[in-house]
Amino acid sequence: MLRKIQQVTLASCLLLFSGCAAMPFLNGPQRRALEAIPGLPPGYLDYSGIVHVHTLYSHHSTGGFDEVVNAAERAHVDFVIITDHDNLRWLKEKKEGFHGHVLVLVGTELSTPSGHLSVLGVENEISIKQDTRKILKEVQKSGAASFICHAQLKLNPWTDWSLRPMVTGMEVFNLPAEIYEDGYVKIGTKSFVYSPRHLMYSYVKRPDAALKQWDEILVERKFVGIGAVDAHQRFRFLGMALDSYDAMFEAVQTHALANDFSRKGIFEAFKKGHVYIGFDVVKPIRSFFFEALSAKGRVMMGESVKFHKGLKLRVFLPESARIRVLKDGKEWKSVSGDQWEGEADGFGVYRVEVYLNDKIWIISNPIYVR
Ligand SMILES: [Zn+2]
Ligand SMILES: [Zn+2]
Repeated sequence: MLRKIQQVTLASCLLLFSGCAAMPFLNGPQRRALEAIPGLPPGYLDYSGIVHVHTLYSHHSTGGFDEVVNAAERAHVDFVIITDHDNLRWLKEKKEGFHGHVLVLVGTELSTPSGHLSVLGVENEISIKQDTRKILKEVQKSGAASFICHAQLKLNPWTDWSLRPMVTGMEVFNLPAEIYEDGYVKIGTKSFVYSPRHLMYSYVKRPDAALKQWDEILVERKFVGIGAVDAHQRFRFLGMALDSYDAMFEAVQTHALANDFSRKGIFEAFKKGHVYIGFDVVKPIRSFFFEALSAKGRVMMGESVKFHKGLKLRVFLPESARIRVLKDGKEWKSVSGDQWEGEADGFGVYRVEVYLNDKIWIISNPIYVR
């Protein structure tokens, strides 16, 4: 009944506010068929997932485990990674694993003295009552991957970049960081006027500050970029979630290229940088690939390759869009089409951004030409 009232209210608002008519028509998510992608090594598939989710085991979240699973099912993703603050309770309760077709993985978001850090693949809890360097040493010893969270968020930024050699990478896109930029009044107004899906669509933007930071680090070292929903399902009105998992899960996904659909396979992909950020709210992405074709064979995103004359770079897209290839953080090529191929222009870090109707759609991890 409540949902019905909300839908009617939203529909009335949408009719009342003519500005909404200018918005693009957004298709709902569809079940993705896992298909072989040209360029991927045999056995590798593109698995889409939701990264950085809080539940009632985080102090500021009210979400239940089943609510996460159901929202992931409805978003048609393959995996979801829960990262509650400073604990692995769902792992201890043996909830990790397949729930329907969704693989639920459990990591944790550590509140270190230098800022928040997502740790993926750790099996034992790590004390945060020690300095960040010691925390990172423990993470490294465990073999887990670690990602700096919402580095640019004014409320909770990352403060010690000298530690970057000890970290796997960073959240290049963090959804709440984009939302908070609007300020509470605008967020409130938009939540009332927009449908949840259009609201999320409005927050999908090129994360300029985070990309600038990432590009600076990439010139010097390998650093994996991921996209995070950082969903809390925190605010409820008469039991109904206002910042629902459903809305946030549709906005941004991190796609993992893996040959083993398991905890090990997915976390390995994150560690190696065999991942890319997809804004499926713009349009669901079934396949994307960025590779180098060297004399020795194919090299996928996240990997290094030795430069030689004739070294080729290739991009495959699900459909025609604008492809920007960046070299060392600066635009190097900009073309339209459903694929692109070109010769590498010497040493450098090459990465790809894709735009659909001028909206950011995909951000790849780099290929490091050394
Ligand atoms: Zn955080
Ligand atoms: Zn968080």
